Amino acid sequence: MHKTAFVWDDRYLNYSFPGNHPFKSLREAMTKKLLEERGAFHEIDIVPPKVISEELLSLIHTKEYIEFIKRKSEEGSGLLDEGDTPAFKGIFEAALIRVSGTVTAVELLQSYDHTINIGGGFHHAKRSQASGFCVFNDVALAIKLAERSFKKIALVDIDGHHGDGTQYLLYDDPKVLKVSLHMFHPRFFPGTGDEYEIGSGEGKGMTINIPLPPGTGDDMYLYAFNEIVVPKIKEFKPDLIFLLNGGDSYYEDPLVELKLSTKGYLEVVRTVHSLAHQFANGKLVMTGGGGYNYEATARIWALSIAEIAGLDFTEFETLEDCCLIASSEFVKKRVLEIVDKLKKIHGLSN
Ligand SMILES: [Zn+2]
Ligand SMILES: [Zn+2]
Repeated sequence: MHKTAFVWDDRYLNYSFPGNHPFKSLREAMTKKLLEERGAFHEIDIVPPKVISEELLSLIHTKEYIEFIKRKSEEGSGLLDEGDTPAFKGIFEAALIRVSGTVTAVELLQSYDHTINIGGGFHHAKRSQASGFCVFNDVALAIKLAERSFKKIALVDIDGHHGDGTQYLLYDDPKVLKVSLHMFHPRFFPGTGDEYEIGSGEGKGMTINIPLPPGTGDDMYLYAFNEIVVPKIKEFKPDLIFLLNGGDSYYEDPLVELKLSTKGYLEVVRTVHSLAHQFANGKLVMTGGGGYNYEATARIWALSIAEIAGLDFTEFETLEDCCLIASSEFVKKRVLEIVDKLKKIHGLSN
């Protein structure tokens, strides 16, 4: 059984930056439509988010920061960070409903195996700072709350950017294994996430960063995933897994230069899903994340949700890319070196 809940509220669509800004909620609307057209909601329950209180939000954000966002939300102009995240009217409410969705996804684990909030995944938001189109860090908050019912939680972040906000909010937390696979290159946002960032205090060794060079294709991405992430999760034996499924590791994403196809994405999702059944009694939360090729992101999310919910794939074939993408010899060599280094850092044998 893969009893699955899809958390959704039409107000998610309000979280969309105006003008030429790349972050558009069109992706979420397109995903829902793809699923609807294929009858997915006969099997998957749609559940509305329960709006959380500001008090709950202040578990991970400062009161001053929350007030700042409310003020900018009323003004509806200016910037929330150094330049990537502009304010718009109602951004506070739009961000709040989406954070609430991920919190609801955790609450729903009491009656569902798998819960999905494609409206979530704001992994760049810090304690008192917006960053990279992210206002409130839904993932860090939901994980903190999940710790009340789960002992060991693994977060697998496959967004093309380093999940810096989540990492730092949970950096010293020994109960959460934080894995991020992302493109790493000088001057590429957010600039953090090299292999030596491994956690602090009691959380030392519980952060695993897999910095990948531009041009990393399905082959080497999956190699790194299978050599590092899979054995680490097997060793940790989480009782809950979070998958932050950002669609911007896709080969035609305009902001990131990784080269995953839908086939590569699905391979990762399939593995994470199977690890959830193997160790966590099936408990799996999937959020969205980045994704600036809207059409591709919608396909990635629809296919991932079908996989997680155990829906018949044959109808979804039109959503799939034809083939896996191979990396160049140069990239292969680089990724082999990084994986070797990571094995030494994290005590994995060759
Ligand atoms: Zn399942
Ligand atoms: Zn991203």
